[in-house]
Amino acid sequence: MKPLLRQELGELKNFFVANGWEDGLFQVLFVLENVKPGMYLQQTNQRKLRQFNNMLLWFNLHISLRHGGYATKNIGLFKEWNKFFGFKIDAERFLGYPPCCVRSHNSHLGDILSVIQLYSLVKAIRLKKSNILQLKQFILNRRFLHHNPCSINCEMSVILERKFEAVINKYNWLVADLLPAFYNLGIQCILSLLEGLQERLANLNINLINDNILDMGINRNDVEEILQNNVEFQNNLRFAKQFLESVI
Ligand SMILES: [Zn+2]
Repeated sequence: MKPLLRQELGELKNFFVANGWEDGLFQVLFVLENVKPGMYLQQTNQRKLRQFNNMLLWFNLHISLRHGGYATKNIGLFKEWNKFFGFKIDAERFLGYPPCCVRSHNSHLGDILSVIQLYSLVKAIRLKKSNILQLKQFILNRRFLHHNPCSINCEMSVILERKFEAVINKYNWLVADLLPAFYNLGIQCILSLLEGLQERLANLNINLINDNILDMGINRNDVEEILQNNVEFQNNLRFAKQFLESVI
């Protein structure tokens, strides 16, 4: 990499860190290295968007300030992003999410089922002290993902995560000091997914879940336990919290 670009990346890093958005720096790297078609800037503050814009231009990215902001190397995607009015992102095309996970998320079931699977896994560990490796793998496999995998074993998510990890290794000189806090945040995020499970389930049509449970290999009793918010559920959540905080 040219020394000039190294310096610019350093400045970009300072900017993202100052804004408490370390993850944004990783995403820029994924876009620059072609493992992600574009990044959603998630910023409604126009002044801040313009600041991002000015820095991202150094890297020959096309930046749209519309709809919360979008950065990409692909001029076609840039034009399309600018065009649409009704705001529903095609996450597969714009952000590179695996089609299976997008489909699953759009059914309003998928990400919740994935979290129920995770809950079941944590419960199994509590009961049998086994499957720890699987849980570790799940956490490792989704550190840099922005979508909820459609299942804890989603192959496309694992492949994507490996590509992200390779980019992070390549830019270790730039990001190494940011990683420990970022990984910790990832575990907190999984915890809050688990803790919000009951609330998320409450908004769903339970019959729909029942129809899909067996296909996803989920234990019906686990769902009932969650829905009833019984003592076991509370115990398992408490265990999950302690366990996740100590696991990696
Ligand atoms: Zn998937």
